[in-house]
Amino acid sequence: MTRMKGEESMKPPPLMLPQDESNQTLIQNVHPPEWENPEPAPCYNLVVIGAGTAGLVAAAGAAGLGAKVALVERHLLGGDCLNYGCVPSKGIIRASRAIYDVRTSREFGIPGGEDLRIDFGQAMERMRRIRAGISAHDSARRFREELGIDVFLGEGRFAGPDRVEVAGKQLRFRKAAICTGARAVAPPIPGIEEVGYLTNETVFSLTDLPSRLAVIGGGPLGCELTQTFARLGSQVSILESQGHLLSREDPDAAEIVQNSMVRDGVELCLKSKVLRVSRGSEGKVIDLEQGGKAKELSVDEILVGVGRAPHVGGLNLEKAKVAYDPKLGVKVNERLQTSNPRIFAAGDVCFPYKFTHTADALARILIANALFMGRQKTSALVIPWCTYTDPEVAHVGMYERGAREKGIEVLTLTVPLTEVDRALLDGEAQGFARVHLRKGTDEILGATVVARHAGEMINEFSLAITSGVGLSAIGKTIHPYPTQAEAIKKLADAYNRTRLTPLARKVLGAWLEWQRS
Ligand SMILES: Cc1cc2nc3c(=O)[nH]c(=O)nc-3n(C[C@H](O)[C@H](O)[C@H](O)COP(=O)(O)OP(=O)(O)OC[C@H]3O[C@@H](n4cnc5c(N)ncnc54)[C@H](O)[C@@H]3O)c2cc1C
Repeated sequence: MTRMKGEESMKPPPLMLPQDESNQTLIQNVHPPEWENPEPAPCYNLVVIGAGTAGLVAAAGAAGLGAKVALVERHLLGGDCLNYGCVPSKGIIRASRAIYDVRTSREFGIPGGEDLRIDFGQAMERMRRIRAGISAHDSARRFREELGIDVFLGEGRFAGPDRVEVAGKQLRFRKAAICTGARAVAPPIPGIEEVGYLTNETVFSLTDLPSRLAVIGGGPLGCELTQTFARLGSQVSILESQGHLLSREDPDAAEIVQNSMVRDGVELCLKSKVLRVSRGSEGKVIDLEQGGKAKELSVDEILVGVGRAPHVGGLNLEKAKVAYDPKLGVKVNERLQTSNPRIFAAGDVCFPYKFTHTADALARILIANALFMGRQKTSALVIPWCTYTDPEVAHVGMYERGAREKGIEVLTLTVPLTEVDRALLDGEAQGFARVHLRKGTDEILGATVVARHAGEMINEFSLAITSGVGLSAIGKTIHPYPTQAEAIKKLADAYNRTRLTPLARKVLGAWLEWQRS
């Protein structure tokens, strides 16, 4: 791997395997081997460390408004989302949905698909090709040539409270943004380091399907990849310490996903504790305890998806007088300012809601507050999220239990998709739409949708909460028939029915009786 000019100690960028045409295009875009770092400007309005979503949005937004910006990236521009996260995972999720639809096509009068197998290599190749295409948007050249940003490839670290050092060069700044993201952490399981495991940084490089896969962790990442690999043809066991998967979500939402996974042939190991991992004659052996009983699993690969640790090491944060917690990340106030008033942070490195859309939203707040004396607060954000299982689980705002913990009285309404014509016609009636209202009003506190495209459906609730629109307004909005989003309209109808008090019913009845007389 070529070294950067003036760069002696930088580690080579991680290999994106396999080194096929798609991955070569990707690397040419997001870490060109022949890249020459520019001569630094005397002083930058903004130096951004880390070129994942938060860093790219902060750099591009600031430069677009006329700021002189430096962007520092040690590995791949695009960060987790493009290279090891959202993009590759959704690429292979699409393939897994395709084979699922083929296998279950008998219901629609198309027999013969039940035993079809997917070409795993080809599905992965498709993902790499699309990822390479998307990478043009995050390319180092685009940021230099179209946006006028000084892009430095190398490890960034603070050399003082007002300067960053990268590849032997010092970048002086008025303001800096720490956007260094987070990485997968392995649980402290005896033997796991010796035996080896996959993380999100390596799983998308597979070219051969593991026959038997254990996924440790039943959160969003673990669930998405469990179901995907099961549908692609692996025998998958998912190991989760809690009583249900997706423990943040309502138990009945998680149960629908669990049932779907069981139909996909997944072995659920709930309430389980991994004791140790070793290598046996049958592959990798996992000793676990489940419901007080000892159990042994033999697998070919182990995928770990249990947690993320912020990238704070090596940044010399002490030198910059930036306070941080090794587990929680850089400490910021509501305006994303660190303990050094010149330095801000955004994205996974400082925020508990680790999503691409949040990193994007935080970067916009950062630009306003750091460069233009803005007073924007992260507490004002309405943050939806979605787990892209089949069906998807999407949520925004409060859960019922959270509202009650805060002493807020709620009215919760649920419409099962079995009451929605389009969901029945699509054969996608496993799910529901649920809303939590402040009792006695139509104010939406939170909502959950479980549906095949719940991620698309939740936006109606997010918009309503963000703009203070109540459920009655959704009720007055005509929804095309037949759509699955009609479930949301039906929630509004259900709410209107709750407003029909016995007295109102009596008055209406009397009026209608008088009309008939
Ligand atoms: C498998 C998976 C699937 C996901 N799916 C989704 C999804 O569907 N939707 C969603 O919203 N979110 C998803 N996420 C989460 C999403 O990827 C992250 O929230 C998002 O990438 C965070 O962006 P970021 O800019 O904060 O950090 P990152 O993307 O991690 O970028 C940080 C960058 O900083 C660089 N860096 C670190 N230290 C230094 C240094 N000292 N000097 C220079 N550079 C440095 C890193 O190399 C990296 O490129 C997924 C994550 C995973 C792992």
